[in-house]
Amino acid sequence: MSRAHFSVQCLDCGEFEPFNLTQTTCSHCGSNWREVRYDLAKTKELFEQNLAERPFDLWRYRELLPITEYIPYLSMGEGGTPLVHANNLGMMLGCPTLFIKDERQGPTNSFKDRQAAVAIAAMKEASITEAVLASTGNVAIAYSAYSARAGIKLWAFLTSLVPLEKMREVAIYGTKVVKVTGTYDQAKKLAAEFARQRNLHLERGACSIPSVESMKTLAFEIAEQLPYFFPGYEKRGSASKWKAPDWYVQSVSGGIGPLGVLKGFTELYQMGFIDRIPAIACIQAEGCAPMVHAWKANKAVADPILNPKTHITTLSTGDPGRTYTLLRERMLNLGGGAFESVSDEETFRTMHILAKLEGLSTETAAAVAFAGTIKLFRQGIMKPNEIVVVNCTGHTMPVENLILGDGWSTDIVASRQDIDTKPQEGLYGALSNLTPEKVQKIIIIDDVEDARRLLRRILQSQGDFHIREAESGMAGIQMIKEDPPDLIILDLMMPEMDGFAVLNKLQEHPNLASIPVIVVTAKELTKDEQVLLRGKVKALMHKGKFMSDDLSDEIFEAIN
Ligand SMILES: *Cc1c(COP(=O)(O)O)cnc(C)c1O
Ligand SMILES: [Zn+2]
Repeated sequence: MSRAHFSVQCLDCGEFEPFNLTQTTCSHCGSNWREVRYDLAKTKELFEQNLAERPFDLWRYRELLPITEYIPYLSMGEGGTPLVHANNLGMMLGCPTLFIKDERQGPTNSFKDRQAAVAIAAMKEASITEAVLASTGNVAIAYSAYSARAGIKLWAFLTSLVPLEKMREVAIYGTKVVKVTGTYDQAKKLAAEFARQRNLHLERGACSIPSVESMKTLAFEIAEQLPYFFPGYEKRGSASKWKAPDWYVQSVSGGIGPLGVLKGFTELYQMGFIDRIPAIACIQAEGCAPMVHAWKANKAVADPILNPKTHITTLSTGDPGRTYTLLRERMLNLGGGAFESVSDEETFRTMHILAKLEGLSTETAAAVAFAGTIKLFRQGIMKPNEIVVVNCTGHTMPVENLILGDGWSTDIVASRQDIDTKPQEGLYGALSNLTPEKVQKIIIIDDVEDARRLLRRILQSQGDFHIREAESGMAGIQMIKEDPPDLIILDLMMPEMDGFAVLNKLQEHPNLASIPVIVVTAKELTKDEQVLLRGKVKALMHKGKFMSDDLSDEIFEAIN
């Protein structure tokens, strides 16, 4: 599949340009707000030819994702979650067509798995190896899991209100956790400043093209799954058999979910797969409901909530920014939708109802969507004869606290005054705590990509290294000469210039001969070969036999 099937359109000036993840603004007008446009006629054809044969996961819709190549080793079966008929809750509300999209069954138990899978795949395509994000919890967990598979080093800025269990889960994947004592909006600003100072890739939420696009797959799946519950169902993947609900309901924080889902249904409608676009219901926690306030006051711009007051941290985006404005505009164009808020108490009660009636144990943030659904039925905004689909996620807390030692997070204290001071001062100055005096430089020379990724991942999870990769002996020597590292990790068996030749080459340069080398090889060495290595390498490790701890012991010995 070629890149040509999609391009990026600026929401402000309307110009089109090719998609490039590292370019974050429109090159014509500088806007941050852009969206992907696809060749929908071509996509429709491809869907009709191919969908019946593809497994039911997120990648079956790859023609409508901004990814050029599907990367099999990243996948953990994301997407393809069940659509469950909520018989009992539906009966309670008088609605026989109430459904639950069970996103608890994603790899890290929330619909953020979709976002992480697509965003991390896009980062791999763009050769990004280190990234920064701010999160209220679930984004950090999902991105951490996928970063682990991808060999991407991740920095997660979490507000200190994020439950410890969630923070520890982020840490267990090897992500660097930075705890920010402050609001989520403050954590976002800090993460952005940190990424800017270090020149690292920043996850930009609703301005991140892969993130918004990933959420469309919820719409695609729902429309393929719904017909199964109605008479006349035949075969998944046949275009005339897709069906849209009347409502899609979600708990909302920043609003990426509804923005993406709405775009997904709109694309299906434009391709003629569904006969209507559902209304969207965005439910917020009462203590942090800027979108609900603005919607009810008929305002196009939401006033930020500076002090979110809810126990439901996942939903504590105080400043939804332009996401709200876009959502509102689009919902009004389609003739409606709803923004509603619910109290923490209503939410906790609903958690119990849901577990007792439907056998679904959810996290509080997900229960918000159900409490909102109940409210909208009571208000008569949702009608008993309508088809309603509610997004449900849930995060249970396993035992990371028992297997993680101390020191898995760095603390930063934010206060409102600090946030407004100039970068480099006050709070931003605290970022320098995260910058070690000297980051050790390591070059990995190995011709096998999988091996390089594993080594990179082991290094990333053990320390703050600057890692470069060379895919041949020749390229490695070049890299070493350009900027000598503190350590070289070297494979022996490589085509053209093998590891022995690399070592010999290093010996020719006095300033390079002293750089420590750790050889990592799949080869059983002969006596002669062992002699050849003697005195030239710090350690010899056998691929497939070493544990990550062994390697890191050798590394610390070599560079300290
Ligand atoms: C992220 C998240 C939300 C909020 O989603 P947005 O679309 O970003 O507003 C709601 N519930 C859960 C469980 C989440 O993880
Ligand atoms: Zn523009």
